[in-house]
Amino acid sequence: MASHFIADIIENDLATGKHPTIRTRFPPEPNGYLHIGHAKSICMNFGLAAKYGGTCNLRFDDTNPTKEEEEYVASIREDVRWLGFDWEEREYYASDYFEQLYLWAEQLIEAGKAYVDDLSVEEIREHRGPWNAPGRESPYRNRTVAENLDLFRRMRAGEFPDGSRVLRAKIDMAAGNVNLRDPVMYRILHATHHRTGDAWCIYPMYDWAHGQSDSIEKITHSICTLEFEDHRPLYDWFVRELGIWPPRQIEFARLNLTHTVMSKRKLLRLVEEKVVAGWDDPRLPTIAGLRRRGYPPAAIRDFAERIGVTKQEGTVELALLEHCVREELNRVAARRMAVLRPLRLTIVDWPEGEFEELAAINNPEDETAGTRPVRFGRDLWIERDDFLEEPPKKYFRLAPGREVRLRWGYVVKCVEVVKDAAGEVVEVRCTHDPATKGGGTPDGRRVQGTIHWVAAADAVDAEVRLYNPLFAAADPDDVPDGVDWITLVDPGSLEILAGCKVEPALATAAPGDRIQFERTGYFTADLADHTPERPVFNRTVTLRDSWAKEQKKAG
Ligand code: ATP
Ligand code: MG
Repeated sequence: MASHFIADIIENDLATGKHPTIRTRFPPEPNGYLHIGHAKSICMNFGLAAKYGGTCNLRFDDTNPTKEEEEYVASIREDVRWLGFDWEEREYYASDYFEQLYLWAEQLIEAGKAYVDDLSVEEIREHRGPWNAPGRESPYRNRTVAENLDLFRRMRAGEFPDGSRVLRAKIDMAAGNVNLRDPVMYRILHATHHRTGDAWCIYPMYDWAHGQSDSIEKITHSICTLEFEDHRPLYDWFVRELGIWPPRQIEFARLNLTHTVMSKRKLLRLVEEKVVAGWDDPRLPTIAGLRRRGYPPAAIRDFAERIGVTKQEGTVELALLEHCVREELNRVAARRMAVLRPLRLTIVDWPEGEFEELAAINNPEDETAGTRPVRFGRDLWIERDDFLEEPPKKYFRLAPGREVRLRWGYVVKCVEVVKDAAGEVVEVRCTHDPATKGGGTPDGRRVQGTIHWVAAADAVDAEVRLYNPLFAAADPDDVPDGVDWITLVDPGSLEILAGCKVEPALATAAPGDRIQFERTGYFTADLADHTPERPVFNRTVTLRDSWAKEQKKAG
């Protein structure tokens, strides 16, 4: 793992003996599926623990009963594991600490550092004032300890309706940092929690729960995104007033990616309004979506490594993520032939019913992958756009009177074109040169183009789903006034092709297998819908690497 400012802090803490070992945590709120931004945090927290011989906990930050669900907990577990990380037995829940947090709240009340406030949420906000002028104190701020304890206990007992009272920390209503103007610690919420059921009707706020949860788990470095920087003084205040183990909060810049939205709120809306097919829609930046799209976990880890960790907000090009995916897939993906938009090609000088077995290399990047037999015969499928009746300059594929090489097979020459009543080309008829088996031209003549094909006798029909970015615009969060961002979803982000012709070796692919369709792109057998009887492939990425090209241009 590369060095960065957080790694430096840790190395220093280990060197000075402040901590003999480190403990980090990944603290998702189970109110949605994880996305590539979370992957950055996961790779960093688990990666740092691994690098420095420490441990990383998985902690569900489940303090908001109305938005959280078991489905999300299960998906988060699956996604972290899939990314290649293991929290062993260290799976924790903020809700497991509700009783301890409650006792600590009583401790603060007894110390005169917290009070029950009867103001409404609206009034509290108003009393806090704008950041550039001091706030006003609540008329309930100076209740006695006894009265506060009594009211807080009755809040817990369920005597009061939602929103009627809160518990606030008594800090400083004139503080320059608004977070220190008597922040709310508890609110009343008569709601069923996914784990604690109806045991509680008061729930801790994030700021009251997070630092204390870190402390309970003896987290040494509590790493979070920059929006919590202004909360750090409060984080430290609670820990100090309680006199408990003090973790250190460190902030870094969150990951933003072009051509997608990342906020959970927006992802949820895309799912709920069925603009996409679910949380695992391959167009989403969710881990589940990327998995179904065919992204290898190693590529995501590599991406997280390359983007690094800084305090500088910025947006990373989707092209870089795709570059990482291509690099990994180039190494590991088997090559196969698949014709997406089929056109019939007949070898007129090849006897009907006769076949020849050719050896096709499985992966030129991996010698151990060997070869597979493919059958060559009279009736083949080729791509519709690998033939043009009137080819422009620099078109090196098939055209009337021209030669082209059929991958692993022979050089063929177009001698006739068959059209239907509407004038559309429905078949191309060719002769083959028997001396060119395997693709070579013993007489030394130049054949520039090589195209892929599938023998009609062996071809299996497949559905192929071509995915493009969900948003054509680089920054879909930047929306003109009066425009709903969701209307900017690109209707061309998914194109479904039926009746594609693929080699038989593809029908037997297992769901999740990653394959390069020669000349077309990297694909994966769909995790949900692919079966040998009805093969379905998702395009993971095209072969064109715009990132590498830009890098080259830039020198
Ligand atoms: P929200 O606040 O909208 O619920 P969140 O993205 O903060 O969403 P959490 O479940 O609270 O979601 O995030 C868990 C962890 O992942 C946090 O530590 C958070 O800082 C980190 N994280 C979330 N989004 C990103 C991102 N885009 N880049 C890096 N880290 C992120
Ligand atoms: Mg959050």
